[in-house]
Amino acid sequence: MSESPGPLSGSGFAYRNGALCAEGVALADIAAAVVTPFYCYSTAGLEGHYQAYAAAFADQRATICYAVKASSNLAIIGTFARLGAGADVVSEGELRRALAAGVPPQRIVFSGVGKTRAEMEFALETGIHQINVESVPELDALNAVAVAMNRRAPVMLRVNPDVDALTHAKISTGKSENKFGIDLAHIAGVARRAADMPGIEFAGLAVHIGSQLTDLAPFRLAFTKLAELVAALRADGIALSRLDLGGGLGIAYRDESPPPLADYAAMVKGIFGNLGVALALEPGRSLVGNAGVLVASAVAVKEGLTRRFLILDAAMNDLIRPTLYEAWHEIVPVIAGSREAVPVDVVGPVCETGDTFATQRMLPPIAVGELVAILSAGAYGAAMSSTYNSRPLVPEVLVRGSEYAVIRPRQSYAELLAQDRLPDWLDDPERV
Ligand SMILES: *Cc1c(COP(=O)(O)O)cnc(C)c1O
Repeated sequence: MSESPGPLSGSGFAYRNGALCAEGVALADIAAAVVTPFYCYSTAGLEGHYQAYAAAFADQRATICYAVKASSNLAIIGTFARLGAGADVVSEGELRRALAAGVPPQRIVFSGVGKTRAEMEFALETGIHQINVESVPELDALNAVAVAMNRRAPVMLRVNPDVDALTHAKISTGKSENKFGIDLAHIAGVARRAADMPGIEFAGLAVHIGSQLTDLAPFRLAFTKLAELVAALRADGIALSRLDLGGGLGIAYRDESPPPLADYAAMVKGIFGNLGVALALEPGRSLVGNAGVLVASAVAVKEGLTRRFLILDAAMNDLIRPTLYEAWHEIVPVIAGSREAVPVDVVGPVCETGDTFATQRMLPPIAVGELVAILSAGAYGAAMSSTYNSRPLVPEVLVRGSEYAVIRPRQSYAELLAQDRLPDWLDDPERV
């Protein structure tokens, strides 16, 4: 099976008769109904990516727990939940989203470096499958919370394997200087301690070394260290039945060629196949990244002294990845034409020079009012959006075959303003 790489491959988005469509629906038709900017996702893209994981791991005892932070709309989580997915959550809010979307608590993993006691309590009340603990103080706190509730918290210890994920520094999480996990050298001691705690049911180990990995080598290094650790702990009399391998598999934003899932799964099997452990996987980006786009309109074309600017109605508050991670997103006209490409800076209207989607990008001339799609925006797009510059959150639309649904309506200006409250001394005209 050889698919042409690139952001449209397997995404659910394709040109039909020159019009970019999500499955059977033209993006231009959605734009006419919901107005730009908006996020659009393809159910076929989401499901296809999930099924590819499920198929690759069909012969291993593995639960695929969708990393909710990548795209946390209830309809997206629900799409995966219906296929049997679990969820990886990093806050009480995400845990509540996963439960509301129909993910059973027995398939939910709670990760994150700074869980509060209130979050721990809530998680234990739900009967959550697993809480990944990242430090000794966190372990002590969780034990205390569980004992007070007369429960035992199912715990995995997150290992920091000190492996360079070879990805962007801001999404590298497995080096010893990163805040995540417990150092390899300390795991045995912490595991022994965990196994003796009345409020803790020690189940195993977890790793997550980073995001947008396009090479198997860092995974192999981290997983090999993890397998050695399992052997060492068992030799020490510490039982463990599960491993959580995290997420991190990259996608093609441009011309990257991330490792095929079959290779990833074969590597996992080769390293852990004989250990008799149940596995959890926590993919986020690789499930949703290429199954979503951000559709925007051209507001203006500005000829600067040295370059041309294409100003969109979408901005960094809607999609922060280009400015936060220097990320490349393919930008395409929604209606294809045979116009010659010219270099242009694609920017938003926000008052920041960082509000730039692309610099000196070769694009066919885009006219004011014309639609463009920013591809591969399904992961860490809407989920990271804000109302900076008092721009309302944009709609999210989910397509399935020839139908679509608005899964988050555009925030109204009334809703935006209603979030604020005036203190008495400003609200009362008598008090000057
Ligand atoms: C962010 C995160 C993931 C998902 O990472 P992707 O790169 O989106 O697959 C999985 N596990 C943990 C613990 C995370 O923090």
